Amino acid sequence: MNLILLAGPGSGKGTQAELLQMQFGMVHLSTGELFRENIKRKTELGKLAKTFIEKGQLVPDSTTIDMVRERLMQVDTERGVVFDGFPRTINQARALDEILQSRGTMIDAVIYLTVREDEIIKRLSGRLVCKDCQLPFHNEHNPFESCPYERCQGEYLYQRDDDKPETVKARLRVYQNQTAPLIAHYTARDMLIKIDGEGSVTEVSNLIQQALRKLIESQDIA
Ligand code: ADP
Repeated sequence: MNLILLAGPGSGKGTQAELLQMQFGMVHLSTGELFRENIKRKTELGKLAKTFIEKGQLVPDSTTIDMVRERLMQVDTERGVVFDGFPRTINQARALDEILQSRGTMIDAVIYLTVREDEIIKRLSGRLVCKDCQLPFHNEHNPFESCPYERCQGEYLYQRDDDKPETVKARLRVYQNQTAPLIAHYTARDMLIKIDGEGSVTEVSNLIQQALRKLIESQDIA
């Protein structure tokens, strides 16, 4: 099963994608995470991506698409992939279709997490991410208790540079202009599953699981 998690910044995509990876053994492919890894390693791709990310803008499509294509060649996609933060433009959506088609597979569903803008701002301002495994936490709503991978005691948590209020505003604008059109794009293809993303991590995860079980039953996919 191949899924896209579509949602605004700070809407819990990363957290839910990580849970899907644990529950279904799918590969979690986060373009934001791949960019941050490249920035940390100071690669050419990282240097380029940084100039866009720190302004809250999207990294150009061609760079992003090439990175996704390459990543898909490196991982075992037999149990499927959950795409987190990709596609973010109609162009990227078309490219993803082509990439998957050339691999003899396709997107089975697009999970669209809905979260209101004032809630997004609240979430992002309190978000803390683990520098080691990239797992996101929130200082109020999802505080660090223990590492699910048993690798640390929370000592690597930090606030992302692009979670500063000015950058968050730019990211929300970019989302409305460039990414929100994907909602209509996938609705027209009858692929969109709308999920209320404002509950707790467990509530949202349960809603996603219910929806996926229904999809698997109706389409006989695994
Ligand atoms: P969030 O969903 O919280 O905004 P991400 O980790 O998904 O965070 O992305 C962080 C930043 O990385 C984005 O604001 C953007 O600059 C860049 N980025 C991530 N995915 C893409 C993509 N598919 N296309 C272009 N830029 C991207």
